[in-house]
Amino acid sequence: MPKLSPKALLRRFMLSNNIYLLGSFEAGLTIYKQQVRALNLVWSMIEVLPHRKLERVAVIGGGFAGLTAAAALLHKGVKHVTVFEKCAALCPLQDGSDTRWVHPGIYDWPEEGSNMPAAGLPLLNWKAGRASDVVVEVLHGWDRILENKSPRQTVSIFLNVKHLRIDRTAEVEWVGEQVVGLTGEMPSGNRGVPSGNKSKFESIILAVGFGLEPTARFSYWRNEQLGQPELVPGRRTYLVSGHGDGALVDLFRIRIARFRQDRILVDLFADNTKLVNALRELKRASGPMSSKQLYAEFERIQSNPTFGFKKLLENLQKRLRTDTAVVLQMSPNVDAFRNIFRTPASFQNRFLLFALYKAGGLIPTAQKQEKLICDQYGIAEHDIVKRHGPKPRSAVEDAIDGSLMSVCRLRIAYLERRSSQPSTICWSGGYWHTPSKKLDANPAGDDRSKATWRREYLPQATETFVTPFAAAVAGYLESLGSAGSDFRVTLHRTLYIGSEVLLQQASRYAGRTSRLGNAGRALGFRNGTIGHAATAQKIVRTRPKAAGQSDSGYRIRLRRDMQKLNLTQHAQPMAQAVRSILAVPILAANRKHVIAVLYADSTRSNVFTDRCVGAIKQMCERFAEQIEKVTALRVGNFSVPPLDPPKPLRGLKLEILQALDKPSAPHAPTAHYLNLEFTDFVSVKEGAI
Ligand SMILES: Cc1cc2nc3c(=O)[nH]c(=O)nc-3n(C[C@H](O)[C@H](O)[C@H](O)COP(=O)(O)OP(=O)(O)OC[C@H]3O[C@@H](n4cnc5c(N)ncnc54)[C@H](O)[C@@H]3O)c2cc1C
Repeated sequence: MPKLSPKALLRRFMLSNNIYLLGSFEAGLTIYKQQVRALNLVWSMIEVLPHRKLERVAVIGGGFAGLTAAAALLHKGVKHVTVFEKCAALCPLQDGSDTRWVHPGIYDWPEEGSNMPAAGLPLLNWKAGRASDVVVEVLHGWDRILENKSPRQTVSIFLNVKHLRIDRTAEVEWVGEQVVGLTGEMPSGNRGVPSGNKSKFESIILAVGFGLEPTARFSYWRNEQLGQPELVPGRRTYLVSGHGDGALVDLFRIRIARFRQDRILVDLFADNTKLVNALRELKRASGPMSSKQLYAEFERIQSNPTFGFKKLLENLQKRLRTDTAVVLQMSPNVDAFRNIFRTPASFQNRFLLFALYKAGGLIPTAQKQEKLICDQYGIAEHDIVKRHGPKPRSAVEDAIDGSLMSVCRLRIAYLERRSSQPSTICWSGGYWHTPSKKLDANPAGDDRSKATWRREYLPQATETFVTPFAAAVAGYLESLGSAGSDFRVTLHRTLYIGSEVLLQQASRYAGRTSRLGNAGRALGFRNGTIGHAATAQKIVRTRPKAAGQSDSGYRIRLRRDMQKLNLTQHAQPMAQAVRSILAVPILAANRKHVIAVLYADSTRSNVFTDRCVGAIKQMCERFAEQIEKVTALRVGNFSVPPLDPPKPLRGLKLEILQALDKPSAPHAPTAHYLNLEFTDFVSVKEGAI
């Protein structure tokens, strides 16, 4: 989808004047996608709406989407934000949900990057985990937003909200209990006592989600024991009704031992790149395919020995539980198993369903009468798992009064038919860490705030991996005795965000320096010395200062070079005292992409001699070898997004900085990307990591 302007994007959320609907009718229900939609919406509101429309904003619904929207509004400086939540807690669906595993990207598997375990969001970020733990992580993020808001801002949170109605003038009436933050402290001491009220808002975000599943005996997010082995002998037969993601995940948990959405991918596909690539291509092409065609494509993959489906099947058969059986009831309009592959379920789940079927792991039925199925297979009523999905329309209509309904009935019908709110990042890079001019949330411009501008998510594990390396290079420089009393070393990794390619500082500065510069800062791929080294794919250093050359002349020419290299406000201007600079790009295995750029500078001149550069190149090469070794399994499943690296700046003539033809840039033997998460080190397969 082409990137939308804020104006075009805002229109897609518009329900009626000043009232926006967040994601309720969209396909691809995931926490991550809803959070991205929330950030997209707030970005477009802040960019498009006049200041007065952002004075007081109400968010209806305290799930992940509503909370993310509220956090983003506060973070960008909206003065008064009010959150209304129907239940007694924020994120009530997933709060305490220990049996569900959630992952930010797995819904898009096998697309590149989909198995990255971190959401990488600028606000309320989280990592794959039990749903209950993800709630805790996100609520910590929410707490931080509340702690950091300015004294001029107010947040009102109402829980246990009953009878909430919005009218066409954006007035809300409700009964609810006001709390502060998460802890539930009350400003006026009457916590728990509901009060009725009404208030007018300049803008309203309706984040009421998708509603509950009306036909289910228990909600998808409630704790249960489907994934656990039976404690009494014998085989228990379940009826799973439906074939959306909720139904399929439950089917897999009942039939596959120790099933988890991301772990199963490692278990079944880790050493089979050919199969993953074939599925990746098939997914890209599968949009317009009918169910039957997709099924035929899966069979084509099955019958081609190069894809190793036989081995996958054997592995899956070994994992089939012997204490359970499942009858899968297909929806009433489906008469044969090959016709259920056009369901809105994720590609991963559809392929696994195919594999499970081929492994004899389920019995499909087109029988519509539940009772007949139960009688035939001896299924007890409490072993029926009905997953027919939620009914978002009723959640939306519930919050709207007659006057508003009369003006937005057609719009609701339209939104219901068409999925149009993108779940890919639309905001511009660095947006969430740059003060908003319009709302003047934070004073801008001082060095400290600049150091945190354009901050992007940096996994702690990546920082932990990079820091000792930067320290080792700094130690080497110090051992030479020529690096002076102010020198520093860090490593920038290449970072892919949407269609952008950036260089992110992946460790704090090692060495001897008091100059600022935090890990996590991201710079354009073509900016500064590191950008020059990354685009030219060559080692860049300062030319030696000739004996007799004046220091001020050298400094002025170096500054001129830096200006030509587009050192923007996102980077700090280079310190006046710097005389030696080195940037060493580490090329990816394909030698087309850059994994990282090591950067070092010093206030002393002539530090980066040929010998020193040669040694640091060797150090980078050895470091690059280790990237793949520590996370071979995960990284092997993931390749760089299909983005061509940005080209070098045109007509660049530098006086002091030189790109070296020799030695050539170091390269990694196998790795494509430098990204480690702590979850990468959690053992998923005996002896695999
Ligand atoms: C069967 C099923 C399986 C799923 N599986 C996954 C999965 O594996 N991974 C994943 O990432 N996502 C999954 N999802 C999606 C996930 O549930 C949502 O993306 C997530 O809950 C965040 O969405 P939300 O905040 O938009 O909605 P919700 O979480 O539904 O939040 C909406 C909130 O609004 C409140 N509310 C509703 N009406 C009102 C009102 N009138 N006044 C005040 N408050 C109101 C509700 O109480 C609720 O707290 C699944 C969904 C379903 C239905």
